[in-house]
Amino acid sequence: MSDDWALATRLVHEGAMRSQFGETSEAMFLTQGFVYDSAEEAAARFANEAPGFVYSRYGNPTVAMFEQRMAALEGAEACRGTTSGMAAVTAALTAALKAGDHVVAAGELFGGCRYIVETYLPRFGVETTLVEGKDLAAWEAAVKPNTRVFFMETPTNPTLALVDIAGVAAIRDAKAPGAQVVVDNVFATPLWQSPLALGADVVVYSATKHIDGQGRCLAGAILGREAWIKDNLDVILRQTGPALSPFNAWVMLKSLETLPLRIRAQTETAARVADALATHPAVKRVLYPGRADHPQAELAQRQMKGGSTLLAFSVDGGRAAAFRAANALKLVKLSNNLGDAKSLLTHPATTTHKNLTPEAREAAGIDEGLLRLSVGLEDAGDLIADLTRALDAAAMKVRQAGE
Ligand SMILES: *Cc1c(COP(=O)(O)O)cnc(C)c1O
Repeated sequence: MSDDWALATRLVHEGAMRSQFGETSEAMFLTQGFVYDSAEEAAARFANEAPGFVYSRYGNPTVAMFEQRMAALEGAEACRGTTSGMAAVTAALTAALKAGDHVVAAGELFGGCRYIVETYLPRFGVETTLVEGKDLAAWEAAVKPNTRVFFMETPTNPTLALVDIAGVAAIRDAKAPGAQVVVDNVFATPLWQSPLALGADVVVYSATKHIDGQGRCLAGAILGREAWIKDNLDVILRQTGPALSPFNAWVMLKSLETLPLRIRAQTETAARVADALATHPAVKRVLYPGRADHPQAELAQRQMKGGSTLLAFSVDGGRAAAFRAANALKLVKLSNNLGDAKSLLTHPATTTHKNLTPEAREAAGIDEGLLRLSVGLEDAGDLIADLTRALDAAAMKVRQAGE
């Protein structure tokens, strides 16, 4: 594959390995094991002296095609697929850490990620400090002599607040050289944000979201330097077993061919929906990284190449009005998932973020009227009409209650 070809071209062709049949579309290798021509050949593969696969927990041709295409997309030296996004996060962090090490992480994390850093890693003697993601001084103050990992997600779920990746990487360089900056890049998507170019060492994905893009399979990916992956990560993946299924890898591999088209269309629609919601009298505020009124618009400009397929907005009238608006939707579906072709809406305070204390929710900006929208591939006009009608209905009830 030529490195000169543009990303769109490489996402269609990169990593393709054809069998003796010369199939056009990449094949799905649903096999656990591989047979050898001779005992000597088996011995050579086990000794790493001959190329080839030995067992699908270690590697599989369809999974390898997905990994190579993902690495091209991210501009990373290497990629490893995993069975889910959480498997990717857990493997990446455990590969970088041992008992006695310290992690600094943004507190605004996907629930599972927060559990791993706050509860799971400390069980094995890893110390963690959670900071407010946007406060670089807090990141710096949290560094200790044994800090080995900085972990963040940006934009964050559900308020689309940003963390300055290059800023955290500079703190790593100054105060903890050699520590790993690990970025969960799910919300930004590989199209709109390149953490490795901003100084991160490792990028993790839930491929379940935009990479599948049609709400079908779970998968994850870990990307970074080849030496780190070979020396630190591979042994963890091989021996703990979060191997990506070849079927799911095939779905993801084919999805990568259309990723730029989908993400561009969904982002364009999300921007139009955000602008329309901002003018609705029942909406108190809209949070969208592509808008000039985003609290960190300057950082969004600097760090992201595009807006987002996600937005959040707060409805006047709290939980009751938010529920009324949600229940009045006809086209937009209610679901906590995201990155689907179908537009999905969730009320974070009672679903994805219900386990936070009310104080923690308030600190994170998750008020009772807040709704998070993942924008799909539907027509922008249809989505705006559906949301406007639902908000009109919610506002009417608020006015009646006020009378
Ligand atoms: C969904 C998600 C995960 C977890 O991914 P799974 O594929 O569901 O395991 C991790 N981080 C973020 C930001 C997510 O949105």
